[in-house]
Amino acid sequence: MTGKLSAYGRKRHFGKTPEPKPVVKQRHGRAPIFVIQKHDARRLHYDFRLEMDGVLKSWAVPKGPSTDLRDKRLAVPTEDHPMAYARFEGRIPDGQYGAGPVIVWDRGTYRLVAKHHRQIEVELAGRKLKGGYALTKFRDRAWLLVKMKDRWARRGSITRTKPNSVVSRKTLEGLERAYRRNHPRTDA
Ligand code: MN
Repeated sequence: MTGKLSAYGRKRHFGKTPEPKPVVKQRHGRAPIFVIQKHDARRLHYDFRLEMDGVLKSWAVPKGPSTDLRDKRLAVPTEDHPMAYARFEGRIPDGQYGAGPVIVWDRGTYRLVAKHHRQIEVELAGRKLKGGYALTKFRDRAWLLVKMKDRWARRGSITRTKPNSVVSRKTLEGLERAYRRNHPRTDA
């Protein structure tokens, strides 16, 4: 296990969770990818991940991203994730870290427009999200994710109008129902 993913590895039991193992994977000569996973753990949130230096830099966004210029979405940094996580969709089993269903809500490539100590600007080319987004650090462990003004800005709530997975069309609710059929709740 490498240093960058040691926090990721420490939190998980890879015999028990279907999540990918902690492997750093430097890629060259290809546009970097981003992924946004919708994850219903103790609380519903969206995990915003950007490929940087062989891992997926990650932020948990409780309300999810928006295409609306007026929305400022809290984004809390979380541990770096392995590149293979960009393809992960499934149900993290009860009793494991992050237990709950995960779908790939959006995915694509991005262009790094600017990277400063307290601000990262990217241009996303996803299935749902397109154009400029800024991540701005305003406090320790607290960033804001904001849509930048361009032709892709839209009013309204894209998380509400487009809830499904971009890879399987599945919903979190569907994944959860399938899991519960095999793992009945035991409220003992
Ligand atoms: Mn999560």
